[in-house]
Amino acid sequence: MAKAKYIFVTGGVTSSLGKGIISASLGKLLQAKGFKVTIQKFDPYINIDPGTLNPYEHGECYVTDDGAETDLDLGHYERFLNIPTSQANNITTGRIYNNVITKERKGEYLGKTVQVVPHITDEIKRNIYLLGKSGEFDFVITEIGGCVGDIESLPFIEAVRQVKWDVGQNDFLVIHLTLIPYLKAAQELKTKPTQHSVKQLLEAGIQPDILVCRADRKLPADIRKKLALFCNVHYNSVIEALDAETIYDVPVQMLKEKLAERVLTKLKMSHKNEPALDQWKDFLGRLKNPTEEIRVGLVGKYVELPDAYKSIAEAFIHAGAENECGVEIEWISSESINEENCESLLGHLDGVLVAPGFGERGIPGKIEAVKYVREKKIPFFGICLGMQCAVIEFARNVLKYKDAASTEFDEKTKEAVIDLMEEQKKITDKGGTMRLGAYPCNLEKGSKAAATYGKQKISERHRHRYEFNNKYLDAFNKAGLRASGINPETGLVEVVELVDHPWFIGTQYHPELKSTVLNPHPLFVKFVAASLQYANSKS
Ligand code: GLN
Repeated sequence: MAKAKYIFVTGGVTSSLGKGIISASLGKLLQAKGFKVTIQKFDPYINIDPGTLNPYEHGECYVTDDGAETDLDLGHYERFLNIPTSQANNITTGRIYNNVITKERKGEYLGKTVQVVPHITDEIKRNIYLLGKSGEFDFVITEIGGCVGDIESLPFIEAVRQVKWDVGQNDFLVIHLTLIPYLKAAQELKTKPTQHSVKQLLEAGIQPDILVCRADRKLPADIRKKLALFCNVHYNSVIEALDAETIYDVPVQMLKEKLAERVLTKLKMSHKNEPALDQWKDFLGRLKNPTEEIRVGLVGKYVELPDAYKSIAEAFIHAGAENECGVEIEWISSESINEENCESLLGHLDGVLVAPGFGERGIPGKIEAVKYVREKKIPFFGICLGMQCAVIEFARNVLKYKDAASTEFDEKTKEAVIDLMEEQKKITDKGGTMRLGAYPCNLEKGSKAAATYGKQKISERHRHRYEFNNKYLDAFNKAGLRASGINPETGLVEVVELVDHPWFIGTQYHPELKSTVLNPHPLFVKFVAASLQYANSKS
């Protein structure tokens, strides 16, 4: 059984420096050298998971195959490494405390005072070692959310300190991601904030092994020397991370800066071969040299914060590169759309995606958008709530069920074409209670969906409480909005597609969650291709 090495990524000076991207890039490089890698994220907030958080608070909630509602960084891990993550890859303070308190109530600490050290830190370490002990991985990279010095992350930092003594220094390494700001007035890059944040780590008993320095310009040798001297790291362990044009450049930047080599040297491991990044570089080449360009509308209610739709935006990047086509996303607030302005807001677009979401706000605009693109035969892609809006729109305007609605927004509707799932009816708790994670789906032979996937049996990830009401199945099928994907066990409608339309597909599941650099999602790839075809047909 492989003995895992533990790499921790901490952050200093400010948040939002991109610990997730650095972790994923290092993971990619180690993977490209032939190692097996997993990445986990510790989030120092009290929520058990981000599932109950408003997207404005925390961006998108990323769902894994095993149904965990997780931080959006897990999406980056999957998109970069092309391997699935699970519940074990995202742990919050809330989960740690919940586990400890549950054990306490069971009497597992009987007679003892339960304390942050050692009980909370032991539980944190148990979660770190869980992945390492599986024997599946050579490296477990653990990203510690927040910044060093935050009150909230103290127990995590203390646990990291202890890990070094549990596993020994040859199996333990800390990378500190920091910011080197440029002061215009002084015309200088400044190292002091980094010195302070490293001091803070030292106070907690941790000496970082490698500094990854975000900067908006190159780090001259004297700055590198200064950082090495004051922060007790080797000169070669000062790694420069310049602002990148795209996050997908970062593995290549880190390749040039020899991040993986530094890690392997520090851990006294042989360097093996050069990282095989050929496919990645091919992808970058296609991404940066598109031969065509399309404009796609993303209709949603959280558009002021594109992080709320992170995986959709990334899936478009993968699909665009696959088609060698630049995809410009126009973010359209669903609340701004009405019958009168559809033409001016959507008329120039080459494709429209109606986004997932919850609650009533913005629903009329989403339904108007669907009507417009259905009638104008503009390529349409509806995801989760977007698919449900397509069903409601068709029911109202084609089947002439004037009252058609989802019981999510109109509990008393006479035509509940979208209704609460039976098993949801008795649930009152909000956390972790939706239909979550991967479920199988059978695609109808000869359907557009089956042709797109090139197979009939698929598995996709879910996050919803409402579903297509099968009472109406025949009526929809006959009128031309076909249910072309069905869950084989429950009969739940997973995919709808319009027969008389060049590309009009809605999915109850979230295909965006499974799109990666090496495996762009077929539905996104074909939607981009259809939009491109539509764009070319106009000119
Ligand atoms: N609100 C809808 C439901 O719960 C759609 C959810 C979503 O778009 N993720 O079914």
